[in-house]
Amino acid sequence: MKSVEIIVPCYNEEEGIDIFYEETKKITDSIKDYSFKFIFIDDGSKDKTLEKLMNLANNRDVYYISFSRNFGKEAGMYAGLKNSSADYVIIMDADLQHPPKLIIDMINGIEEGYDCVAARRVDRKGESPVRNAFSKMFYRLSNKITDVKLERGVVDYRIMSRQMVDAVLSLSESQRFSKGIFEWVGFKKKWIPYENVERTIGSSKWSFWSLFKYAVDGITAFSLAPLKLVTLCGFLISFFAFIYIIATLIQTCIYGIVVPGYVTTLSAVLFLGGIIEFSIGLLGAYLGHIYVEAKDRPLYITKYTNIDNINSNGFDVQKGIKNGKDA
Ligand code: UDP
Ligand code: MG
Repeated sequence: MKSVEIIVPCYNEEEGIDIFYEETKKITDSIKDYSFKFIFIDDGSKDKTLEKLMNLANNRDVYYISFSRNFGKEAGMYAGLKNSSADYVIIMDADLQHPPKLIIDMINGIEEGYDCVAARRVDRKGESPVRNAFSKMFYRLSNKITDVKLERGVVDYRIMSRQMVDAVLSLSESQRFSKGIFEWVGFKKKWIPYENVERTIGSSKWSFWSLFKYAVDGITAFSLAPLKLVTLCGFLISFFAFIYIIATLIQTCIYGIVVPGYVTTLSAVLFLGGIIEFSIGLLGAYLGHIYVEAKDRPLYITKYTNIDNINSNGFDVQKGIKNGKDA
């Protein structure tokens, strides 16, 4: 019997969690030869998510880790992976936007010999056209300038072999961009397309601004191309400035000093100022990455968990600090 753990990051999901467990359990119960466990991560929810989880934990296949505050979905996924011990691990959203029936296809893919079977959303109905356009732009840009190829519509919903999970965990960076990390580690991957399911319970936790920050972090985490681009810009501007200076000198020699145009001067100053500000900002983004990595803070802090039962060797304190146990 092979073991599978389903990792479910939850943030303010009190309304949906029971239905999620019920629906997913229907599917996992129908799969023979594999045993399933759930690891719910309560990402510092402000509603009754934790209470619901503690309640669910009366079932023998339910485990939970509850953070001391909201650390973000990336930290949630990391905590789940870090505390997993099964032969296969599935990552899944709690809002039923990731159809549980795909688990059957995922297991089939594993039987076919793949290390990873990942879901890919084929349409984006129910999303605003602006968001859609920005998403398209992000993927095009990111694929052009980074080494990892991201497929559009890729979600975190996937099954991974233990070997791949260990590889993912071996990337110890604290600013995690999982979509990139999953690609970066390689392994044999199969995509299963699915149609977007609109969220019926609760609401999306992503604002436009948080998505924008996510995109910038994603690109700067996997590519130095923006830095090179700025260098190229600087070079080109200096080159044209040099030509302009020579041309002006020659002009002055032939015609003498003409009335100076302040528009030209002003535009040059403003233009260069803009480029310099932009470059400093960009450098700052990379410096920020180094700053955060250098501090090496834990990715999350656990407040409550019943997880000791899962790993006989106890909780991993390397990156996660455990402060308390079940109340
Ligand atoms: N989530 C989380 N921490 C957060 C935000 C979201 O654990 O800070 C969880 C959330 O509960 C859900 C999943 O991540 O299970 C995806 O979030 P959401 O549905 O808001 O994102 P979307 O489906 O809109 O991309
Ligand atoms: Mg969702």
